[in-house]
Amino acid sequence: MMRQYIEIKAANSDCLLFYRMGDFYELFFEDAVIASRALGITLTKRGKHQGEDIPMCGVPVHAADDYLQKLIALGHRVAVCEQMEDPAEAKKRGYKAVVQRDVIRLVTPGTITEEKLLDPSQANYLMALGRVKGGEDAMALAWLDISTGVFRVATTLPDRLLADIMRVDPRELIVAEPVYHDPALRPLFDTLGRMVNPQPPAFFDSASAPMRLARFYGVATLDGFGRFSRAELSAISGAVAYVEKTQVSERPPLGRPERDDETASLFIDPATRANLELTRTLSGEREGSLLKTIDRTVTGAGGRLLCERLMSPLTDPEAIAERLDSVSFFLNEAMLRDGLRELLKAAPDISRALSRIALNRGGPRDLGALAAGLEAARAVCDLLQGKELPAELSRAVRDLEVLPAHLANHLARALADELPLMKRDGGFVRPGYDSELDEMRSLRDESRRVIAAMERDLIEETGIRSLKIRHNNILGYYIEVTANNAGVLTNSDEAKARFIHRQTMANAMRFTTTELAGLETKIANAADRALSIELAVFDRLAAEVVAASEVLRDGAAALAVLDVSAALATLADSENYCRPVVDDSLDFHIEAGRHPVVEQALRRQLGEPFVANDCDLSPADGEKAGAIWLLTGPNMGGKSTFLRQNALIAIMAQMGSFVPARSARIGVVDRLFSRVGASDDLARGRSTFMVEMVETAAILNQAGERSLVILDEIGRGTATFDGLSIAWAAVEYLHEKNRCRALFATHFHEMTALSEKLSRLVNVTMRVKEFEGEVIFLHEVARGAADRSYGIQVARLAGLPPAVVERAREVLHLLEEGETGSKAARIVDDLPLFSAAMHRDPPMRKTSDRLREELSALNPDEMTPREALDALYRLKGLL
Ligand code: ADP
Repeated sequence: MMRQYIEIKAANSDCLLFYRMGDFYELFFEDAVIASRALGITLTKRGKHQGEDIPMCGVPVHAADDYLQKLIALGHRVAVCEQMEDPAEAKKRGYKAVVQRDVIRLVTPGTITEEKLLDPSQANYLMALGRVKGGEDAMALAWLDISTGVFRVATTLPDRLLADIMRVDPRELIVAEPVYHDPALRPLFDTLGRMVNPQPPAFFDSASAPMRLARFYGVATLDGFGRFSRAELSAISGAVAYVEKTQVSERPPLGRPERDDETASLFIDPATRANLELTRTLSGEREGSLLKTIDRTVTGAGGRLLCERLMSPLTDPEAIAERLDSVSFFLNEAMLRDGLRELLKAAPDISRALSRIALNRGGPRDLGALAAGLEAARAVCDLLQGKELPAELSRAVRDLEVLPAHLANHLARALADELPLMKRDGGFVRPGYDSELDEMRSLRDESRRVIAAMERDLIEETGIRSLKIRHNNILGYYIEVTANNAGVLTNSDEAKARFIHRQTMANAMRFTTTELAGLETKIANAADRALSIELAVFDRLAAEVVAASEVLRDGAAALAVLDVSAALATLADSENYCRPVVDDSLDFHIEAGRHPVVEQALRRQLGEPFVANDCDLSPADGEKAGAIWLLTGPNMGGKSTFLRQNALIAIMAQMGSFVPARSARIGVVDRLFSRVGASDDLARGRSTFMVEMVETAAILNQAGERSLVILDEIGRGTATFDGLSIAWAAVEYLHEKNRCRALFATHFHEMTALSEKLSRLVNVTMRVKEFEGEVIFLHEVARGAADRSYGIQVARLAGLPPAVVERAREVLHLLEEGETGSKAARIVDDLPLFSAAMHRDPPMRKTSDRLREELSALNPDEMTPREALDALYRLKGLL
């Protein structure tokens, strides 16, 4: 057996091997060590290999999904190896023969289909990178979701590769081994980490790709598929080959690969995607992301579509307007919308159930899901019947109308009301559907009644009131009497011939009779026959479902479109969003814009209301390019919030959502860049400043006149003059070369002078009020420049010791007075040292003395926690 194990393991060396033994999947050697640690299960040993103990651990088959889920989440891949024959068969070949086993499936993060392992509102993409040497389209990405059948392909370029990968956010990226080892791509693969999975180069061979695809789809030619470049074919082939490898003998119902036009979507570079917290916050959580904030969908498929739209906003104003029309429609039809959402709530995940059935992993509940899905689709059609629908919605309804009614009827007729999880449990076919099945079932049930009658008769005949006819898996049906009653059944030859002894227990004896054994056979046969009829019904229904997979997938997609449109209307309604105008101009005019996430968070915390702000980067009269707003103002004034909210409004508008503003007019943005927040990249050995400069370089090298650029406090991570000079030069470059629309926040007030030289540069500032030496943030953006930075006031609010705040004021005062040259040297000369300041300041000294006295009087060893807390407050009170 170990020889068999080692052979199978060698063929699947990059996976943990789940090796089926009876009711367990066992893991051995290194796999056992890894799995026991990852799953928190006991590591034992079994036998020896080359003189050493073999480590082993196991998981019960019935709970395997839970363990798989944990391992997949940790980034492992698992090969599931099953027994391919009954152990009894193997025994016939000789007493040492090993049961035949084979890997029936590789479970990897990118190829899962189980409901338990999938997030209902997340697509689960497997992506393949194809690369051919030379030529223009040298690189392409193909991505597919076997749980829904979606399959897309797009060309890409080395400098946008990471951005294109992040846009799709796959769970697993497969690349050809030589590509994986290419030093030029090394840093990118390192960034992506465990997600990257090198595979044999033959998978990616573009020359044999057409043959592979034709075989996979069971077609003679690929003529109907459209034309693909060699790189695209290589990526598609890699993805399909990996599906074949992992699914072994099963075929998921993949749609045909569709080209995803990369220019049709707003390019968002990876840093911006992360910093704007579109689908995850910087700390990796979904809570607090834009997606979570705006998601009002009620179905898994709707949630996935919303996420996809958010990840890839459009750039075609007409396509955007079409989506907005759908939202407008449901905004005006609130009753209809609520009715629709009620129906959708009851609609299960059609495409995922379909995939499981096609992969032979489905159960009665998956068929049930399809039945319920088809029923919901029908009800949705009826609801929207005769309504004046905008284009996108009427297309969706057409896709629902062509769903096969006969399939819906057939499923409804065949399936029982309550469905078991596994088909082998039986009982899922509705009574009345199949007459032979009904007959078998009544035979089975009838026999049970006969047994009950037999029990009654035997009690009467023998006079043993405690006599029972019972059933267990080893003996089958048997008669049981207590030990002291057993004599009645054994006291005569006649009785002995009739009651055949089966088993003696401590207090009981068990018997059977020919009559009982005969009945038992009848019951078992009827049950067997009933189950095989049910399984045949299942297979027929499954085949019918698979045959309809294309229309079913389209129908599921249509329900998702309806869900997303109604959800965005619900959002616009409850959050008071407006319909944006997106056109071909270079305008960017937001009136009374708000930050969608901060606004909702403030409301939840019952804090102050969010202060709405305008933003107008539209070209002024006579100008051919958009404006740059230079935003100054104190820290905590709301600069980052303002910058981000405008980027988010652009994204939301172009994904086809209403936006948090009174009005919004946006000349379509083709690329969005940002440099916001200080995301340290210390793991890769780059300082904050280095990261900032790399990101800034990317922006200055790539932004064009249709881009929107958001820059927050660049130049902060270095010496003042260096920082100021870099920020200064960057603004000049944006204005003269990139000529893009931009928001630039800075704490270098000196830069406001630039507006005299740069015609499209506008100074704006976050307003603050000063009241008795305190700053009050108004969070209002106003024309003009901040006169001061208020940094010291903010420091005081944050609780810096008063002595430090006072000293800082003195230093600031001198710095502001000094004109040129060695200011710092003069400060050192003119001002007494910090410690001297403390001595000069009598109240200060008193405080410190009193603190010292109080402190030395304390004896921490003798204090209760309560006393310690009181003492802490007392000490604080002395300040
Ligand atoms: P800055 O970038 O200027 O340091 P932030 O944008 O980080 O300031 O904002 C500071 C705080 O002010 C945030 O916690 C935010 O909740 C609040 N804030 C920002 N803008 C607004 C606004 N328009 N209305 C209400 N509160 C705001």
